[in-house]
Amino acid sequence: MSSPPLIDRDDYCSWGRVVRRRQRVVRPHFFSELPGLVGLPSSKLAIGRRRSYGDSCLNSDGSLIDMCGLDRFISFDAKKGVLRAEAGVVLSDILHLTVPSGWFLPTTPGTRFVTLGGAVANDVHGKNHHSAGSIGRHVRAIGLLRSDRGRLTVTPASEVALYSATIGGLGLTGVIEWVELDLARIAAAHVDVECLPFENLEEFWALSAESVGNFEHTVAWIDCVSKGSKIGRGIFTRGNWSTTGSLIPHKDETWKTVPIEAPSSLLNTRSIGAFNEVYYHLQKRKRKSRLHYAPFFYPLDSVLHWNRLYGRSGMLQYQCVIPKGEARRAIPHMLSEITRSGGASFLAVLKTFGALASPGLLSFPREGATLAIDFPNRGRDTLEALARLDQIVQEFHGALYPAKDGRMPARLFRQSFPGWEEFSKATDPAMSSDFWRRVAS
Ligand SMILES: Cc1cc2nc3c(=O)[nH]c(=O)nc-3n(C[C@H](O)[C@H](O)[C@H](O)COP(=O)(O)OP(=O)(O)OC[C@H]3O[C@@H](n4cnc5c(N)ncnc54)[C@H](O)[C@@H]3O)c2cc1C
Repeated sequence: MSSPPLIDRDDYCSWGRVVRRRQRVVRPHFFSELPGLVGLPSSKLAIGRRRSYGDSCLNSDGSLIDMCGLDRFISFDAKKGVLRAEAGVVLSDILHLTVPSGWFLPTTPGTRFVTLGGAVANDVHGKNHHSAGSIGRHVRAIGLLRSDRGRLTVTPASEVALYSATIGGLGLTGVIEWVELDLARIAAAHVDVECLPFENLEEFWALSAESVGNFEHTVAWIDCVSKGSKIGRGIFTRGNWSTTGSLIPHKDETWKTVPIEAPSSLLNTRSIGAFNEVYYHLQKRKRKSRLHYAPFFYPLDSVLHWNRLYGRSGMLQYQCVIPKGEARRAIPHMLSEITRSGGASFLAVLKTFGALASPGLLSFPREGATLAIDFPNRGRDTLEALARLDQIVQEFHGALYPAKDGRMPARLFRQSFPGWEEFSKATDPAMSSDFWRRVAS
Protein backbone atom coordinates (compact mmCIF):
# COMPACT_ATOMS: atom_id res chain seq x y z
CA MET A 1 0.00 0.00 0.00
CA SER A 2 1.34 3.48 -0.83
CA SER A 3 2.04 5.89 2.00
CA PRO A 4 -0.34 8.76 2.80
CA PRO A 5 0.97 12.28 2.08
CA LEU A 6 3.06 14.46 4.38
CA ILE A 7 1.32 17.78 5.03
CA ASP A 8 2.78 20.97 6.51
CA ARG A 9 0.73 21.92 9.58
CA ASP A 10 0.79 25.05 11.74
CA ASP A 11 -1.77 23.68 14.20
CA TYR A 12 0.32 20.80 15.60
CA CYS A 13 1.27 22.16 19.03
CA SER A 14 1.86 20.27 22.24
CA TRP A 15 -0.47 20.81 25.22
CA GLY A 16 1.45 23.79 26.63
CA ARG A 17 1.22 25.60 23.26
CA VAL A 18 4.48 27.47 23.78
CA VAL A 19 6.42 25.87 20.92
CA ARG A 20 4.83 26.91 17.63
CA ARG A 21 6.99 25.52 14.87
CA ARG A 22 5.56 24.18 11.64
CA GLN A 23 5.42 20.38 11.58
CA ARG A 24 5.36 17.98 8.60
CA VAL A 25 2.67 15.46 9.49
CA VAL A 26 1.44 12.19 8.05
CA ARG A 27 -1.55 10.32 9.43
CA PRO A 28 -1.62 6.61 8.50
CA HIS A 29 -4.61 4.35 9.06
CA PHE A 30 -3.13 0.89 8.47
CA PHE A 31 -0.04 -0.97 9.69
CA SER A 32 0.85 -1.63 6.05
CA GLU A 33 1.47 2.10 5.51
CA LEU A 34 4.04 2.36 8.30
CA PRO A 35 7.15 0.70 6.82
CA GLY A 36 7.16 3.21 3.92
CA LEU A 37 6.91 6.10 6.41
CA VAL A 38 9.68 4.83 8.65
CA GLY A 39 11.89 4.65 5.56
CA LEU A 40 11.47 8.36 4.75
CA PRO A 41 14.80 10.19 4.40
CA SER A 42 14.33 12.84 7.15
CA SER A 43 13.97 12.00 10.86
CA LYS A 44 10.61 10.78 12.14
CA LEU A 45 8.69 10.67 15.38
CA ALA A 46 5.50 8.75 16.12
CA ILE A 47 3.06 10.79 18.19
CA GLY A 48 -0.34 10.41 19.84
CA ARG A 49 -2.75 13.09 21.03
CA ARG A 50 0.00 15.67 21.85
CA ARG A 51 -1.02 15.79 25.49
CA SER A 52 2.65 16.17 26.36
CA TYR A 53 3.30 19.75 27.36
CA GLY A 54 6.61 20.71 25.76
CA ASP A 55 8.60 19.55 22.77
CA SER A 56 8.89 15.78 23.28
CA CYS A 57 6.04 15.17 20.80
CA LEU A 58 7.35 17.58 18.16
CA ASN A 59 9.95 17.06 15.43
CA SER A 60 10.41 20.35 13.62
CA ASP A 61 13.44 19.21 11.59
CA GLY A 62 11.77 16.04 10.33
CA SER A 63 8.27 14.63 10.24
CA LEU A 64 5.61 13.41 12.63
CA ILE A 65 3.73 10.15 12.23
CA ASP A 66 0.37 10.87 13.83
CA MET A 67 -0.74 7.47 15.14
CA CYS A 68 -4.30 8.49 16.04
CA GLY A 69 -5.68 6.81 12.90
CA LEU A 70 -4.41 3.44 14.14
CA ASP A 71 -6.98 3.08 16.89
CA ARG A 72 -8.47 -0.42 16.69
CA PHE A 73 -8.78 -3.03 19.40
CA ILE A 74 -6.96 -6.27 18.54
CA SER A 75 -8.10 -8.54 21.39
CA PHE A 76 -9.63 -8.38 24.85
CA ASP A 77 -9.71 -11.32 27.24
CA ALA A 78 -12.49 -10.32 29.63
CA LYS A 79 -11.72 -13.26 31.95
CA LYS A 80 -8.04 -12.49 32.45
CA GLY A 81 -8.18 -8.74 31.86
CA VAL A 82 -5.63 -8.69 29.05
CA LEU A 83 -6.04 -6.13 26.28
CA ARG A 84 -4.14 -5.79 23.01
CA ALA A 85 -4.81 -2.63 21.02
CA GLU A 86 -3.28 -0.46 18.35
CA ALA A 87 -1.14 2.35 19.73
CA GLY A 88 -3.51 5.14 18.68
CA VAL A 89 -6.43 3.89 20.81
CA VAL A 90 -7.25 6.49 23.46
CA LEU A 91 -7.59 5.51 27.11
CA SER A 92 -11.16 6.83 27.09
CA ASP A 93 -12.16 4.22 24.50
CA ILE A 94 -10.38 1.45 26.39
CA LEU A 95 -12.50 2.23 29.45
CA HIS A 96 -15.71 2.10 27.41
CA LEU A 97 -14.76 -1.41 26.35
CA THR A 98 -13.41 -2.83 29.60
CA VAL A 99 -15.25 -1.20 32.53
CA PRO A 100 -18.55 -3.09 31.91
CA SER A 101 -16.57 -6.33 32.33
CA GLY A 102 -14.99 -5.11 35.58
CA TRP A 103 -11.55 -4.06 34.32
CA PHE A 104 -9.80 -0.69 34.60
CA LEU A 105 -6.45 0.65 33.44
CA PRO A 106 -3.69 -0.52 35.80
CA THR A 107 -2.83 3.16 36.28
CA THR A 108 -4.00 6.29 34.53
CA PRO A 109 -2.75 9.84 34.03
CA GLY A 110 -4.98 12.80 34.86
CA THR A 111 -6.55 12.85 31.40
CA ARG A 112 -8.17 9.99 29.52
CA PHE A 113 -7.50 11.71 26.17
CA VAL A 114 -4.07 10.19 25.65
CA THR A 115 -3.18 7.27 23.39
CA LEU A 116 -1.96 3.91 24.57
CA GLY A 117 1.28 4.36 22.60
CA GLY A 118 1.84 7.81 24.12
CA ALA A 119 1.15 6.48 27.63
CA VAL A 120 3.74 3.72 27.22
CA ALA A 121 6.29 5.99 25.55
CA ASN A 122 6.11 8.30 28.59
CA ASP A 123 5.68 5.44 31.11
CA VAL A 124 2.87 7.43 32.71
CA HIS A 125 1.92 7.27 36.37
CA GLY A 126 -1.25 8.06 38.27
CA LYS A 127 -2.67 8.59 41.72
CA ASN A 128 -1.95 4.93 42.53
CA HIS A 129 1.79 5.05 41.86
CA HIS A 130 2.54 3.92 45.41
CA SER A 131 0.42 0.79 44.92
CA ALA A 132 0.79 0.02 41.18
CA GLY A 133 3.91 1.78 39.91
CA SER A 134 3.99 3.21 36.41
CA ILE A 135 2.11 1.80 33.40
CA GLY A 136 5.23 0.09 32.07
CA ARG A 137 5.05 -2.46 34.89
CA HIS A 138 1.81 -3.74 33.37
CA VAL A 139 2.89 -3.95 29.73
CA ARG A 140 3.16 -7.58 28.55
CA ALA A 141 4.30 -6.96 24.97
CA ILE A 142 4.87 -4.19 22.45
CA GLY A 143 4.69 -4.40 18.66
CA LEU A 144 7.59 -2.18 17.58
CA LEU A 145 8.53 -1.16 14.05
CA ARG A 146 12.14 -0.10 13.58
CA SER A 147 13.82 1.37 10.54
CA ASP A 148 16.83 -0.96 10.99
CA ARG A 149 15.21 -4.20 12.19
CA GLY A 150 11.66 -4.13 10.84
CA ARG A 151 8.75 -5.48 12.92
CA LEU A 152 9.54 -6.87 16.37
CA THR A 153 7.55 -8.17 19.30
CA VAL A 154 9.24 -6.73 22.35
CA THR A 155 8.64 -8.32 25.76
CA PRO A 156 10.54 -8.10 29.06
CA ALA A 157 11.89 -11.63 28.35
CA SER A 158 12.55 -11.52 24.59
CA GLU A 159 14.21 -8.14 24.04
CA VAL A 160 15.38 -7.02 27.46
CA ALA A 161 17.37 -3.95 26.41
CA LEU A 162 14.89 -2.77 23.82
CA TYR A 163 11.99 -3.27 26.22
CA SER A 164 13.51 -1.08 28.94
CA ALA A 165 14.44 1.53 26.34
CA THR A 166 10.96 1.59 24.76
CA ILE A 167 9.02 1.93 28.04
CA GLY A 168 9.33 5.66 28.68
CA GLY A 169 11.48 5.89 25.54
CA LEU A 170 9.74 8.99 24.14
CA GLY A 171 9.17 7.42 20.72
CA LEU A 172 12.89 7.29 20.02
CA THR A 173 13.27 3.50 19.78
CA GLY A 174 10.83 3.07 16.87
CA VAL A 175 7.12 3.20 16.17
CA ILE A 176 4.96 1.42 18.75
CA GLU A 177 2.32 -0.27 16.60
CA TRP A 178 0.40 -2.06 19.35
CA VAL A 179 0.54 -2.72 23.07
CA GLU A 180 -0.60 -5.66 25.19
CA LEU A 181 -1.54 -4.62 28.71
CA ASP A 182 -2.66 -6.27 31.97
CA LEU A 183 -5.73 -4.49 33.34
CA ALA A 184 -6.80 -4.10 36.98
CA ARG A 185 -9.92 -5.75 38.47
CA ILE A 186 -12.66 -3.41 39.74
CA ALA A 187 -15.98 -4.31 41.37
CA ALA A 188 -17.66 -0.99 40.59
CA ALA A 189 -17.08 2.13 38.53
CA HIS A 190 -16.93 4.30 41.65
CA VAL A 191 -14.29 5.37 44.12
CA ASP A 192 -14.88 6.00 47.84
CA VAL A 193 -13.14 9.30 48.36
CA GLU A 194 -12.00 11.36 51.34
CA CYS A 195 -10.86 14.98 51.07
CA LEU A 196 -8.80 16.31 53.96
CA PRO A 197 -7.57 19.87 54.25
CA PHE A 198 -4.03 20.38 55.55
CA GLU A 199 -2.50 23.59 56.82
CA ASN A 200 1.16 23.02 55.98
CA LEU A 201 3.65 20.56 54.53
CA GLU A 202 4.24 18.77 57.82
CA GLU A 203 0.56 17.82 57.81
CA PHE A 204 0.88 16.72 54.17
CA TRP A 205 3.76 14.32 54.95
CA ALA A 206 1.82 12.90 57.89
CA LEU A 207 -1.34 12.37 55.82
CA SER A 208 0.66 10.82 53.03
CA ALA A 209 2.47 8.38 55.33
CA GLU A 210 -0.77 7.40 57.02
CA SER A 211 -2.63 6.93 53.70
CA VAL A 212 -0.29 4.96 51.45
CA GLY A 213 -0.88 1.63 53.19
CA ASN A 214 -4.65 2.03 53.36
CA PHE A 215 -5.61 3.92 50.22
CA GLU A 216 -4.93 2.85 46.65
CA HIS A 217 -5.11 6.40 45.30
CA THR A 218 -3.66 9.53 46.88
CA VAL A 219 -2.91 13.03 45.65
CA ALA A 220 -2.90 16.58 47.03
CA TRP A 221 -3.71 19.96 45.60
CA ILE A 222 -1.46 22.71 46.91
CA ASP A 223 -2.35 26.36 47.16
CA CYS A 224 0.92 27.67 45.77
CA VAL A 225 -0.14 31.30 45.91
CA SER A 226 -0.65 31.45 49.68
CA LYS A 227 2.07 33.05 51.73
CA GLY A 228 3.37 33.29 55.30
CA SER A 229 1.81 30.85 57.72
CA LYS A 230 -0.43 29.44 54.97
CA ILE A 231 2.42 28.35 52.71
CA GLY A 232 2.08 24.69 51.70
CA ARG A 233 -1.57 24.36 52.65
CA GLY A 234 -3.80 22.24 50.48
CA ILE A 235 -6.37 19.50 50.13
CA PHE A 236 -5.37 15.84 50.42
CA THR A 237 -7.52 13.42 48.44
CA ARG A 238 -7.43 9.68 48.96
CA GLY A 239 -9.65 6.91 47.74
CA ASN A 240 -10.28 3.23 47.21
CA TRP A 241 -12.35 1.51 44.55
CA SER A 242 -15.89 0.93 45.81
CA THR A 243 -16.61 -2.73 46.44
CA THR A 244 -20.23 -2.65 45.28
CA GLY A 245 -22.14 -0.74 42.62
CA SER A 246 -22.64 -0.52 38.89
CA LEU A 247 -20.05 -0.92 36.15
CA ILE A 248 -21.24 1.86 33.88
CA PRO A 249 -18.41 3.67 32.09
CA HIS A 250 -18.14 7.44 31.78
CA LYS A 251 -20.25 9.45 29.36
CA ASP A 252 -18.37 11.23 26.65
CA GLU A 253 -20.15 14.55 26.63
CA THR A 254 -18.39 17.43 28.31
CA TRP A 255 -20.17 20.23 30.07
CA LYS A 256 -17.88 23.05 29.01
CA THR A 257 -15.38 23.92 26.36
CA VAL A 258 -12.99 26.83 25.91
CA PRO A 259 -13.69 27.74 22.28
CA ILE A 260 -11.02 30.43 21.82
CA GLU A 261 -7.76 31.53 23.35
CA ALA A 262 -8.41 33.61 26.44
CA PRO A 263 -6.73 37.01 26.77
CA SER A 264 -3.33 36.53 28.43
CA SER A 265 -4.33 38.99 31.15
CA LEU A 266 -7.11 36.66 32.40
CA LEU A 267 -4.73 34.64 34.53
CA ASN A 268 -2.90 37.06 36.76
CA THR A 269 -1.67 36.86 40.34
CA ARG A 270 -4.92 38.36 41.58
CA SER A 271 -7.33 36.07 39.69
CA ILE A 272 -5.28 32.99 40.53
CA GLY A 273 -5.03 34.03 44.17
CA ALA A 274 -8.81 34.52 44.31
CA PHE A 275 -9.43 31.16 42.66
CA ASN A 276 -7.15 29.37 45.09
CA GLU A 277 -8.73 31.01 48.10
CA VAL A 278 -12.26 30.05 46.98
CA TYR A 279 -11.22 26.53 45.90
CA TYR A 280 -9.49 25.85 49.21
CA HIS A 281 -12.50 26.88 51.24
CA LEU A 282 -14.99 25.03 49.02
CA GLN A 283 -13.01 21.79 49.15
CA LYS A 284 -12.47 22.21 52.87
CA ARG A 285 -16.14 21.52 53.38
CA LYS A 286 -16.11 18.20 51.55
CA ARG A 287 -15.17 15.13 53.53
CA LYS A 288 -16.34 11.73 52.32
CA SER A 289 -18.06 10.99 49.03
CA ARG A 290 -18.59 8.30 46.43
CA LEU A 291 -17.47 9.48 43.03
CA HIS A 292 -17.64 7.98 39.57
CA TYR A 293 -14.11 7.30 38.31
CA ALA A 294 -14.37 10.05 35.67
CA PRO A 295 -14.56 13.09 37.99
CA PHE A 296 -12.14 11.39 40.38
CA PHE A 297 -9.38 10.58 37.89
CA TYR A 298 -10.13 13.10 35.14
CA PRO A 299 -11.54 16.32 36.67
CA LEU A 300 -9.93 18.50 33.98
CA ASP A 301 -11.40 16.50 31.10
CA SER A 302 -14.82 18.03 31.77
CA VAL A 303 -13.53 21.28 30.26
CA LEU A 304 -12.34 20.63 26.73
CA HIS A 305 -9.31 22.65 25.58
CA TRP A 306 -8.83 24.19 29.03
CA ASN A 307 -5.23 24.91 27.98
CA ARG A 308 -6.59 27.82 25.88
CA LEU A 309 -7.28 29.65 29.15
CA TYR A 310 -3.59 30.50 29.18
CA GLY A 311 -3.91 32.57 26.03
CA ARG A 312 -1.73 32.61 22.95
CA SER A 313 1.53 32.54 24.91
CA GLY A 314 0.60 29.17 26.39
CA MET A 315 1.92 27.68 29.60
CA LEU A 316 4.79 25.64 30.91
CA GLN A 317 4.33 22.86 33.35
CA TYR A 318 7.08 22.13 35.83
CA GLN A 319 6.95 18.60 37.20
CA CYS A 320 9.82 17.29 39.25
CA VAL A 321 10.46 14.32 41.48
CA ILE A 322 12.69 14.63 44.52
CA PRO A 323 14.11 11.43 46.06
CA LYS A 324 12.55 10.23 49.30
CA GLY A 325 15.40 11.20 51.62
CA GLU A 326 15.57 14.75 50.24
CA ALA A 327 11.95 15.66 49.62
CA ARG A 328 11.16 17.08 53.05
CA ARG A 329 14.01 19.56 52.66
CA ALA A 330 13.59 20.37 48.97
CA ILE A 331 9.81 20.84 48.62
CA PRO A 332 9.55 23.74 51.12
CA HIS A 333 12.38 25.49 49.24
CA MET A 334 10.56 25.02 45.97
CA LEU A 335 7.23 26.26 47.30
CA SER A 336 8.86 29.36 48.80
CA GLU A 337 10.58 30.06 45.49
CA ILE A 338 7.33 29.55 43.56
CA THR A 339 5.33 31.76 45.90
CA ARG A 340 8.03 34.42 45.82
CA SER A 341 8.11 34.43 42.00
CA GLY A 342 4.32 34.86 41.90
CA GLY A 343 4.23 33.09 38.55
CA ALA A 344 2.36 29.88 39.33
CA SER A 345 -1.23 29.08 38.47
CA PHE A 346 -4.01 27.15 40.20
CA LEU A 347 -2.87 23.73 39.00
CA ALA A 348 -0.41 22.53 41.60
CA VAL A 349 -0.24 18.91 42.61
CA LEU A 350 1.89 17.13 45.19
CA LYS A 351 2.09 13.36 45.53
CA THR A 352 4.45 10.77 46.95
CA PHE A 353 5.75 8.08 44.60
CA GLY A 354 6.21 4.60 46.05
CA ALA A 355 9.13 2.20 45.88
CA LEU A 356 7.91 0.08 42.92
CA ALA A 357 10.65 0.51 40.33
CA SER A 358 9.78 1.84 36.88
CA PRO A 359 10.97 -0.49 34.13
CA GLY A 360 12.15 2.14 31.61
CA LEU A 361 15.67 3.52 31.24
CA LEU A 362 14.18 7.02 30.90
CA SER A 363 11.17 6.49 33.19
CA PHE A 364 10.47 9.52 35.33
CA PRO A 365 8.78 8.05 38.45
CA ARG A 366 11.07 7.09 41.29
CA GLU A 367 10.54 6.85 45.04
CA GLY A 368 10.05 10.30 46.53
CA ALA A 369 7.73 13.25 46.13
CA THR A 370 6.53 14.75 42.86
CA LEU A 371 5.40 18.34 42.48
CA ALA A 372 3.63 19.51 39.30
CA ILE A 373 2.76 23.16 38.73
CA ASP A 374 1.49 25.10 35.71
CA PHE A 375 3.06 28.47 34.91
CA PRO A 376 1.44 30.88 32.46
CA ASN A 377 4.17 31.68 29.93
CA ARG A 378 5.37 35.20 30.69
CA GLY A 379 8.57 34.87 28.71
CA ARG A 380 11.88 35.60 30.33
CA ASP A 381 10.45 36.04 33.88
CA THR A 382 8.94 32.55 33.74
CA LEU A 383 12.10 30.98 32.33
CA GLU A 384 14.21 32.60 35.04
CA ALA A 385 11.85 31.40 37.77
CA LEU A 386 11.97 27.86 36.40
CA ALA A 387 15.76 28.00 36.15
CA ARG A 388 15.84 28.78 39.90
CA LEU A 389 13.69 25.71 40.50
CA ASP A 390 16.12 23.68 38.37
CA GLN A 391 18.88 24.59 40.80
CA ILE A 392 16.89 23.18 43.71
CA VAL A 393 16.05 20.02 41.75
CA GLN A 394 19.70 19.57 40.87
CA GLU A 395 20.92 20.25 44.39
CA PHE A 396 18.55 17.62 45.81
CA HIS A 397 19.25 15.03 43.07
CA GLY A 398 15.79 15.20 41.58
CA ALA A 399 14.57 14.96 37.98
CA LEU A 400 12.14 16.73 35.65
CA TYR A 401 9.44 14.87 33.73
CA PRO A 402 10.25 14.92 29.97
CA ALA A 403 6.52 14.68 29.14
CA LYS A 404 5.99 18.03 30.82
CA ASP A 405 9.23 19.71 29.87
CA GLY A 406 10.01 22.16 27.09
CA ARG A 407 13.18 23.81 28.37
CA MET A 408 15.31 21.82 30.79
CA PRO A 409 19.03 22.20 30.16
CA ALA A 410 20.87 19.16 28.73
CA ARG A 411 23.05 19.08 31.84
CA LEU A 412 20.04 18.56 34.14
CA PHE A 413 18.59 15.86 31.89
CA ARG A 414 21.85 13.91 31.77
CA GLN A 415 22.41 14.18 35.50
CA SER A 416 18.92 13.05 36.42
CA PHE A 417 18.53 10.28 33.83
CA PRO A 418 21.80 8.39 34.24
CA GLY A 419 20.51 5.64 31.92
CA TRP A 420 20.42 8.05 28.98
CA GLU A 421 23.70 6.88 27.42
CA GLU A 422 22.66 3.24 27.52
CA PHE A 423 19.29 4.35 26.18
CA SER A 424 20.86 6.21 23.28
CA LYS A 425 22.45 2.93 22.09
CA ALA A 426 18.94 1.48 21.68
CA THR A 427 17.44 4.41 19.77
CA ASP A 428 16.24 3.93 16.22
CA PRO A 429 18.64 5.84 13.91
CA ALA A 430 15.68 7.21 11.97
CA MET A 431 13.84 8.66 15.00
CA SER A 432 14.34 12.04 16.64
CA SER A 433 12.45 14.87 18.33
CA ASP A 434 12.91 18.50 19.29
CA PHE A 435 13.34 17.36 22.89
CA TRP A 436 16.00 14.78 22.05
CA ARG A 437 18.07 17.14 19.92
CA ARG A 438 17.90 19.66 22.77
CA VAL A 439 18.99 17.40 25.62
CA ALA A 440 21.18 14.76 23.99
CA SER A 441 23.15 16.35 21.19
C1 LIG B 1 -4.42 17.29 31.79
C2 LIG B 1 -3.23 16.38 31.73
C3 LIG B 1 -2.96 15.58 32.82
C4 LIG B 1 -1.87 14.71 32.79
N1 LIG B 1 -1.64 13.93 33.87
C5 LIG B 1 -0.59 13.07 33.87
C6 LIG B 1 -0.36 12.21 34.97
O1 LIG B 1 -1.09 12.23 35.95
N2 LIG B 1 0.68 11.34 34.88
C7 LIG B 1 1.49 11.28 33.79
O2 LIG B 1 2.40 10.45 33.77
N3 LIG B 1 1.29 12.09 32.72
C8 LIG B 1 0.27 12.98 32.75
N4 LIG B 1 0.05 13.80 31.67
C9 LIG B 1 0.94 13.69 30.51
C10 LIG B 1 0.38 12.69 29.50
O3 LIG B 1 -0.21 11.60 30.14
C11 LIG B 1 1.51 12.16 28.67
O4 LIG B 1 2.21 13.20 28.07
C12 LIG B 1 1.04 11.18 27.59
O5 LIG B 1 2.12 10.37 27.25
C13 LIG B 1 0.48 11.89 26.35
O6 LIG B 1 0.01 10.91 25.45
P1 LIG B 1 -0.31 11.31 23.96
O7 LIG B 1 -1.07 10.20 23.32
O8 LIG B 1 -0.93 12.65 23.90
O9 LIG B 1 1.15 11.30 23.34
P2 LIG B 1 2.01 12.50 22.74
O10 LIG B 1 2.06 13.60 23.73
O11 LIG B 1 1.57 12.78 21.36
O12 LIG B 1 3.43 11.77 22.70
C14 LIG B 1 4.06 11.43 23.92
C15 LIG B 1 5.36 10.70 23.63
O13 LIG B 1 5.04 9.40 23.18
C16 LIG B 1 5.61 9.17 21.90
N5 LIG B 1 4.65 8.37 21.17
C17 LIG B 1 3.32 8.58 21.04
N6 LIG B 1 2.77 7.60 20.31
C18 LIG B 1 3.76 6.75 19.97
C19 LIG B 1 3.84 5.54 19.22
N7 LIG B 1 2.75 4.98 18.69
N8 LIG B 1 5.04 4.96 19.06
C20 LIG B 1 6.15 5.50 19.63
N9 LIG B 1 6.14 6.61 20.36
C21 LIG B 1 4.96 7.23 20.51
C22 LIG B 1 5.86 10.53 21.30
O14 LIG B 1 6.90 10.51 20.40
C23 LIG B 1 6.18 11.36 22.53
O15 LIG B 1 7.53 11.22 22.86
C24 LIG B 1 -1.03 14.67 31.65
C25 LIG B 1 -1.30 15.48 30.55
C26 LIG B 1 -2.39 16.33 30.58
C27 LIG B 1 -2.68 17.20 29.40
